[in-house]
Amino acid sequence: MITELFALPIGLQTVAKFEDEEFFSSNSLKEKLIIVVKESSILKPIEKEVITLINDNRIIPIFSNSEIISYLKKKLFPPDNDKFFKSMGFCDHDKIYILIDNNSNLIGFAKDNFLARLLLHELMHMVASLNPNYFLVTFKPQLTIFYKDLFTRLFKLKDSKKIDLIVEDFYKKLFYSNEAADPKLDMHRIVFSFNLLKKYSLLKKEEFEKVSMDYVKIVVYHLTDQHANVFTPNNKYILREPYHVYKDKFGFFPITKNCVQELFVPSEVICSITEYKQTPETYKAIKKLV
Ligand SMILES: [Zn+2]
Repeated sequence: MITELFALPIGLQTVAKFEDEEFFSSNSLKEKLIIVVKESSILKPIEKEVITLINDNRIIPIFSNSEIISYLKKKLFPPDNDKFFKSMGFCDHDKIYILIDNNSNLIGFAKDNFLARLLLHELMHMVASLNPNYFLVTFKPQLTIFYKDLFTRLFKLKDSKKIDLIVEDFYKKLFYSNEAADPKLDMHRIVFSFNLLKKYSLLKKEEFEKVSMDYVKIVVYHLTDQHANVFTPNNKYILREPYHVYKDKFGFFPITKNCVQELFVPSEVICSITEYKQTPETYKAIKKLV
């Protein structure tokens, strides 16, 4: 099926090889992506930089279709790499691959279509991967707001300035373990932070522990099998909260994504916010990539 698909376009070049499977791009696909960038108003402030990244083969459009995308997700990306994969793009350290459906007409899409947002999302993952310290310092306010609100909802926390410090320690540790070359997630880290929150919680001890365990279970399930359905009736009460945090604190509802990664991949929070809200910091961070 793959051979058949890639036999179609003309002037193909192998641009990536995963598990012996070759993936192709072409100059015309590159040119089409550049037109998408030029048409987008949300990419306007970084147009020059994004085009440079495309020309330097650091953003690589790959021919694909929806079957290939699900095939790739299943076959090529082990569960612990799932954090980089978001619908049709992924960031692999210093390269961004954008999977473009062979059958879609890229030109003539509405301005700021999903591809422009996808590029912004993946560019922010690249910032997190290449400039982790800068990323963390720059987006600390949003990360603190997000996780403080999330934990306040889940654990019914009374407000205290001290919670900020526990929350900051939580996402910093997770962030560095996730952005490392060889990511290893330490579940004890998560439980350790939760235990520090205990004394601010209005929940009974057993209730608190249940929430804490359910949270960790979702992360473990998701990492063990990315196709496992983590949205069970038991887990729903946890997984719906990130949506409410986005809505209440950042003013948008991310209907097109599931919010599992938010539980343990802090950069995902900033990348998702960037799709909906761009600030001078967003553009400044991306400009540094070139
Ligand atoms: Zn992402």
